[in-house]
Amino acid sequence: MSDLTRLSAVEIAGLVASGETSAVEVTQAHLDRIGAVDDRVHAFLHVDTEGALAAARAVDERRAAGAELGPLAGVPVAVKDVLTTKGVPTTVGSKILEGWRPPYDSTIVERLRDAGTVMLGKTNMDEFAMGSSTEYSAYGPSRNPWDLERIPGGSGGGSAAALAAYEAPLSIGSDTGGSIRQPGAVTGTVGAKPTYGGTSRYGLVAFSSSLDTPGPCARTVLDAALLHQVIGGHDPRDSTSIPAPVPDVVAAARLGATGDLTGVKLGVVTEFTGEGAEPGVMAAFRDAAEALAKLGAEIVEVSCPHFKYALPAYYLIAPSECSSNLARFDGVRFGLRVGDDGNRSLEEVMSLTREAGFGPEVKRRIMIGTYALSSGYYDAYYGQAQKVRTLITRDFTSAFEQVDALISPTTPFVAFPIGSRTADPYQMYLADLFTIPANLYGGPAISVPCGLSDGLPVGFQIMAPTLADDRMYRVAAALEGAVGTLTPPTL
Ligand code: GLN
Repeated sequence: MSDLTRLSAVEIAGLVASGETSAVEVTQAHLDRIGAVDDRVHAFLHVDTEGALAAARAVDERRAAGAELGPLAGVPVAVKDVLTTKGVPTTVGSKILEGWRPPYDSTIVERLRDAGTVMLGKTNMDEFAMGSSTEYSAYGPSRNPWDLERIPGGSGGGSAAALAAYEAPLSIGSDTGGSIRQPGAVTGTVGAKPTYGGTSRYGLVAFSSSLDTPGPCARTVLDAALLHQVIGGHDPRDSTSIPAPVPDVVAAARLGATGDLTGVKLGVVTEFTGEGAEPGVMAAFRDAAEALAKLGAEIVEVSCPHFKYALPAYYLIAPSECSSNLARFDGVRFGLRVGDDGNRSLEEVMSLTREAGFGPEVKRRIMIGTYALSSGYYDAYYGQAQKVRTLITRDFTSAFEQVDALISPTTPFVAFPIGSRTADPYQMYLADLFTIPANLYGGPAISVPCGLSDGLPVGFQIMAPTLADDRMYRVAAALEGAVGTLTPPTL
């Protein structure tokens, strides 16, 4: 294995900029690594060898011509298959989009290209980003580099596994209820959900539009911040994009790395008592909180009484929005079409296509959402869930009058064995117990490794007020400096 795959994005960019190595060499090293391990890890659904090498050559040419390179030029990045990539297959982990090559790039991908990063390919995910393990991918699960018999989290398990397996130094995920942070936690990597609207949804295949948030995944906090800076910011093509500059997350990460948190007040959520969480996870969380206190942070308890309703509210709101968003997959507009033999009605073809194209979890969500939105039940379910969402937002607002940021474990449990939670959907939903509140509120939240439990990574979550993404990076970088990064076993 080449050493180049062990470097951080910052280190790679430095070597490329100084000419000590070329973007092509870096890219080839990562393609070789993918070739060597991805048959076991299955982080990728599609590897774009030609496209990656061409992008790398373009960076090397620009450097040779004396052009100024951006801070991540020449750095490889893996992109969750939920984002459209022009001419490159985009499946969303579903059979219904198998073979679809989008005619346009999502804004995130466009910004990645403009920044001179090198897209290696598209990563595996639970179908339509619904799940917490990648076991709901129509193309088979990804595996956790810490233990190949365990899940790498989900829905963005491929993006996290690619980092932990050193197949890519950076990746992109999307977080609707935890799909960036939870995979980060269970693979010992960093995953950040930006403020909702801080990163563009243009070209992000929609699951739950009021929650979906693309964001950065990396092995270090500073790398995540650099990626965040590149992909974030206003996009007129997304109606919910915030017309404000990206907070200076890179400066914040650098500040945090100095290890001084004097004057920073952090709140432990009283209601996250640890009930339903593994004792080893809670112990690692408490040790990390103590480490932050040693850096000068003041740690207090803050009550968020409505957080306990976040999971049920989410599992009404997200399926409701999904039932509407996924209506467009009808066998007419994109991808799969089944039964179009000239003798069947349009409705029959649609029905056969959706029956064959969607997996069981997606169908379950569509049915729950359709039910919750139906006229007789709208007030009792969807309407009620929206009221709960308001109460959760108020909990956050009042918490942030008392503290600068909230802290918790990212997930109640470490990576679980493949197959152990698929029989009962509720068991799978519990993986997002601690991550979902931030989605309902819309504020930024990040997961940083904070140690091991039973030899497996534990994630530490930092939640900040909307638009204060920089604040969470500061605390995250301080924590990383105190507890160190995690190195998975050699594959
Ligand atoms: N696991 C959650 C779900 O299944 C969250 C998914 C996500 O964030 N995309 O809906």
